[in-house]
Amino acid sequence: SDIPAATAGKTGFRDAHVFRPGGAVHVHGISKSFGSLKVLDDVELNLPAGSVTAILGPSGSGKSTLLRTINHLERVDDGFISIDGDLVGYRQKGDTLYELKEKDILKRRADIGMVFQNFNLFPHLTVLENLVEAPLHVRGLGRDEAIRLAHELITRVGLSDKINAYPRQLSGGQQQRVAIARSLALRPKVLLFDEPTSALDPELVGEVLDVIKELARTGTTLVIVTHEIGFAREVADTVVFMEAGRVLEQGPPARIFNEAQHPRMREFLARVL
Ligand code: ADP
Ligand code: MG
Repeated sequence: SDIPAATAGKTGFRDAHVFRPGGAVHVHGISKSFGSLKVLDDVELNLPAGSVTAILGPSGSGKSTLLRTINHLERVDDGFISIDGDLVGYRQKGDTLYELKEKDILKRRADIGMVFQNFNLFPHLTVLENLVEAPLHVRGLGRDEAIRLAHELITRVGLSDKINAYPRQLSGGQQQRVAIARSLALRPKVLLFDEPTSALDPELVGEVLDVIKELARTGTTLVIVTHEIGFAREVADTVVFMEAGRVLEQGPPARIFNEAQHPRMREFLARVL
């Protein structure tokens, strides 16, 4: 590769040829039930382009389902979601139904990256192969270009010496950094993280949070479900607290953490802090 390894620390993640400008996400009054269980109840969020949002809340409060609806993995019953004004949800409030065609959904989903708790790397593929898979097959990038991008991204997450390793040869923290690089290879406008450090041994959490922290400076819109309160306080522009499918609080971390109004949020913070 002709990418100098030393660029990582100096330029952070800011380079425009690697990162696309973030998208503005509007979650407008979405509701979602599984049977009689209302998992999302009239959720309203406005995430400006390039913003970093941390979503907190107890287990079962609907955080993962919210991310899955933003990424079209889950259909909403009511409300809609747009990115840069393009409808990505399925249904407008009221009687009018907007159903996107499957190929349009796939096209829009390619603008949204997702990083899961359990990394979800392809175990039988090397790091490099994991990284070029989607650019080649989803984005239609040429092989040379895909490989160049893979080298660049793996350098950014500090793992250029692992490019030919298999996932099982990496620590959990390293696997998660590869998973982040892989989701970046699609040059998403929005990147969703669902408890990205929850499966990691405590001593490996920091290296993954550091990578996300770097990413926060690139202008990609980030939405992070996390229990890492210190990280949320430091990195997020907006903190959202969910319980039982509803957003109970949202606002800048200083206000949310210091003056949480809602007793349920204060209880939650007392438990996790
Ligand atoms: P969180 O991520 O905050 O822990 P989830 O969004 O995973 O919460 O789940 C919210 C609620 O929805 C939980 O009660 C969960 O059991 C339920 N749920 C999630 N997915 C499904 C599904 N596919 N079918 C039925 N119930 C589900
Ligand atoms: Mg969850």
